[in-house]
Amino acid sequence: MSLKTITIGVLGLQGSFARHIAMLDKLGVQTIQIRYPEEIDNCDGLILPGGESTTISKLLDEMKFRDRIQKYNHPMFGTCAGAILLSNNSDNPHVKTLNRVPINTKRNAYGRQVESFIAPVELSFDKKPFNAVFIRAPKLRQLGKEVTALGTINGEIVLVQYENILLSTFHPELTDDQRIHSYFIKQLIRK
Ligand code: GLN
Repeated sequence: MSLKTITIGVLGLQGSFARHIAMLDKLGVQTIQIRYPEEIDNCDGLILPGGESTTISKLLDEMKFRDRIQKYNHPMFGTCAGAILLSNNSDNPHVKTLNRVPINTKRNAYGRQVESFIAPVELSFDKKPFNAVFIRAPKLRQLGKEVTALGTINGEIVLVQYENILLSTFHPELTDDQRIHSYFIKQLIRK
């Protein structure tokens, strides 16, 4: 499959979807801003962006996305709130997760004093650390044994892969560094 024939859907209900689309454009990958559930069937992969997980959770039900994403078997990438939504459960009853990755998430886990920060993430697949933007980021807890850690800051796991799903607690779309999106496309989509 060449990059030109790949189409990635970016869930465009709320949050940071436009920056994901811009980054995929730069990589030469076709994108669709997903507004309706049936649109994901035309995509080779799906990104769930960061934003506010309580809001996105509500919109998933209102817009009838839940079943389709639960059954979706192409690769997915959840960033920040998107990662919370793909996990097994979160600490907030207003966030109904999609249970696609055996992981629990603790929302806003870095506390109010440090709502956002930039930190170098050590990557398992590249020597050069990735300067990552964390915004009211969650922490990943109770990782299932099939979950592989791909990125850490000070020993805290912030990027994981489970089968064909990638989760990051940070926002890789908010920098100019394309390596995480490239990893998603090359390692997960082009199999
Ligand atoms: N704190 C947000 C939430 O719990 C996530 C923040 C983000 O996506 N940057 O939904």
